[in-house]
Amino acid sequence: MPSSPDTTISITRTRSPQQRPADASLSFGKVFTDHMFLMEYDEGQGWHSPRVVPYGPLTMDPATSVLHYGQAVFDGLKAFRGEDGQVRLFRAQRHAERLNRSCAALCIPEMDAGLIRRSFEAIVAADHEWVPRSPGTSLYIRPTVVATEVMLGVHPAHRYTYFVICSPVGSYYKEGVKPVRILATDKYVRAVQGGLGEAKTAANYAASLSAQRDAERQGYTQVLWLDALERRWIDEVGTMNIMLRIGDEVITPPLGGTILDGVTRNSALALMRDWGLRVSERRISIEEVMQAGRDGSLQEMWGTGTAAVVSPVGELGYKDQKVVIGGGQTGALTQRLYDAITAIQYGRAPDPHGWTSVVEAPVAA
Ligand SMILES: *Cc1c(COP(=O)(O)O)cnc(C)c1O
Repeated sequence: MPSSPDTTISITRTRSPQQRPADASLSFGKVFTDHMFLMEYDEGQGWHSPRVVPYGPLTMDPATSVLHYGQAVFDGLKAFRGEDGQVRLFRAQRHAERLNRSCAALCIPEMDAGLIRRSFEAIVAADHEWVPRSPGTSLYIRPTVVATEVMLGVHPAHRYTYFVICSPVGSYYKEGVKPVRILATDKYVRAVQGGLGEAKTAANYAASLSAQRDAERQGYTQVLWLDALERRWIDEVGTMNIMLRIGDEVITPPLGGTILDGVTRNSALALMRDWGLRVSERRISIEEVMQAGRDGSLQEMWGTGTAAVVSPVGELGYKDQKVVIGGGQTGALTQRLYDAITAIQYGRAPDPHGWTSVVEAPVAA
């Protein structure tokens, strides 16, 4: 919904730029750039005042509704600097549209998707020098919408703030793609039909923490979520989508209620279909996966998400059973997907689907 004619993005540059950290010191989401994007929504006025301003705290009244009832959504995408020096966003339009779908799920007024996309471009242009140069590094972009009405009534707010912050991040796999151990849980659930599983919302992350802590206490890295009703059908892994290869069939659970429509999931499916692989979006039970693990037909299993691209699963636990997958090594298809997606992101390979868009540095004043 276009909600306001006021869509010119004003830019106020910082007077005190920070020292940028060395690429080798970067981890994930600890350092932030010099600028942020801001825009507000007020009932009757729509979304207004889009602007790039110096990075800094948001001050909030303690009665601000998001602090109490969690009416908050976010998204996450990246900008990459190629060897040709160009900075590219990966699938900015799809991330913009997903942010709007998350807004709709939480009764937050939607923004103009074109304006969301321009907000990504404006902040990356303003902090262009912050996109790191070393192999595997990137600029993580975090658009977020929070309810900022000051009130304790439980109803959709009449006031919201949209902000976009950016963080230069290090290579996820400094020593090459590395398999993890995951634990299927039938004790906790992440999402249920009719709930918020399809939205990227703060609540889903809060709801995942105790399951994650339990898995870590048992020596695992991540939780494999099963469906909430039968505790049987595999759903997602940690905060990533899940894929596996049994024999010559690649399987991922279908969207449609509980699963977040991952951009990496969508990209991986498109590439595997381009490659002529047999790809099924179908329900698959934990029993079928464990059985395939025992009889050796489970060749590979991996998560997909923006932060890691792919995360291979080397071992899967469920109740008191365990299966080792692909000898605990990264599978050939998992590695091929990682290589193909990163090659497009860094501009090393052609981009037949038009997933990347170049963001130019601002012309020096
Ligand atoms: C963000 C997210 C993903 C991955 O989505 P990408 O667009 O690939 O980063 C998967 N599952 C959940 C629950 C998520 O929040």
